[in-house]
Amino acid sequence: MAESPLAGRHALITGGGTGIGAAAAAQLSAAGARLSLLGRRMEPLQAVAESYGGKPIQCDVTDNARINAAFDEARAVNGPIDLLVVNAGIAESAPFHKMTRESWDRIIGTNLTAAFECSRAAIGDLLKSDNGRLVFVASVASIRGVPYASHYAASKHGLLGLMRSLAAEYAKSNMTVNAVCPGYVDTPMTDQSVARVSEITGRSEGDARSAITNMNASGRLVDPQAIGNVIAMLCLPLSQDINGAAITIDGGTSA
Ligand code: NDP
Repeated sequence: MAESPLAGRHALITGGGTGIGAAAAAQLSAAGARLSLLGRRMEPLQAVAESYGGKPIQCDVTDNARINAAFDEARAVNGPIDLLVVNAGIAESAPFHKMTRESWDRIIGTNLTAAFECSRAAIGDLLKSDNGRLVFVASVASIRGVPYASHYAASKHGLLGLMRSLAAEYAKSNMTVNAVCPGYVDTPMTDQSVARVSEITGRSEGDARSAITNMNASGRLVDPQAIGNVIAMLCLPLSQDINGAAITIDGGTSA
């Protein structure tokens, strides 16, 4: 691989302060990209920016007006957006018969509608770039149902529909559109899932973590850097013919 294959490219990452987003920041920065890091909390964004460079920008992706202003702030510092990583997401759990409309709206709003809005805010730039890349952080919940998380699975299934449609619609352009579909990853979101399972079932946090870890066929949590690595790979110029792919990174769970 060339030393800095993404030198001069602007990568905007939503949810760039923690977990998979921070790992994507590390890998894209190593490949030479200039970073814009978006999220609601400034502290983690600033910490990632201190480690890997980049512009931290406060942005709640469920606020449409804020998305447009934040993307403009990013452009003012780093120029037009070449690489967009739509990663911000949330998870909740509830049995379907107890699921509230508020929870459904929160999950769909953050994981799917915001993905639509962020994609729309960047699509003009991505299509003008000679190496436009749109990468969605989906999930294994994009390809199978998840008990007690039907809203989350619906939002992540929707993300693949959006990804595949955009890949097909713009197949003749220089932009590619792909998704990564992780199994359980060692991030704050999984820590929160462990805490939720422990609280609901009364099991210890250790037992709850083992139960979640064992849902990956490998029996271990996926390293977030492994996801960041595939995201960065999808952004390389040499990946121009990977378009419309949903890449599972789940230790063999969906094999
Ligand atoms: P984290 O909780 O660490 O990351 C989620 C990120 O999204 C945070 O940085 C958070 O920052 C940001 N975010 C959440 N809501 C908003 C919002 N409204 N506006 C802006 N930013 C927001 O967990 P992960 O790294 O694991 O999650 C990243 C993605 O990976 C998610 O889409 C998740 O669904 C997906 N995923 C995770 C898996 C796992 O096992 N952990 C498995 C499969 C997919 P802040 O709170 O500061 O806004």
